[in-house]
Amino acid sequence: MGNRSTICELCGSDNNMTVVELPVSNASEEQSIYLCANCNSQIESGDLDEIYFNCLNDSMWSETPAVKIMSYILWNRLGRQDMIEIMYLEEDELKLAEQAVNLEASKLVYRDANGVELKTGDSIVILKDLEVKGAGFTAKRGTTVTRIGLAPGDVSHVEGRVNGTKIFIKTEFIKKA
Ligand SMILES: [Zn+2]
Repeated sequence: MGNRSTICELCGSDNNMTVVELPVSNASEEQSIYLCANCNSQIESGDLDEIYFNCLNDSMWSETPAVKIMSYILWNRLGRQDMIEIMYLEEDELKLAEQAVNLEASKLVYRDANGVELKTGDSIVILKDLEVKGAGFTAKRGTTVTRIGLAPGDVSHVEGRVNGTKIFIKTEFIKKA
């Protein structure tokens, strides 16, 4: 274990350290991570500061499996599949990481403007004109979007194709078709 416990394994801070078990079924010492109070509170609340978690750019290359797995989980929550793709995990580490991400996903419930649960593959109708930033068009009210996806780790958005462009749409502006 060496000096694992002296600093936060994600951000390097030494403020109010705690040991946190990874959200996987068979937790052991191998699957726990040393976190500072700031990292821990953001991870617990689910409200991640994207800039703050730039520290994942370093922690994702850690030698400690649990730190890599936690980095994977947090990149997933931040919707950064591009970072997950460049990570290197051993087969058993990847298995645990995917298990943790699936467990988190199964706890998230996505709901439309009426509170109806949304699932991957559903069709939805857009309830108001939405300007799509960066794409130069407006997703019109009344547009049906088929085969939506759920925004990873973010219950306030779904993703779907409008005008051939994949966009994120706020769940408060849609209803299940
Ligand atoms: Zn930290």
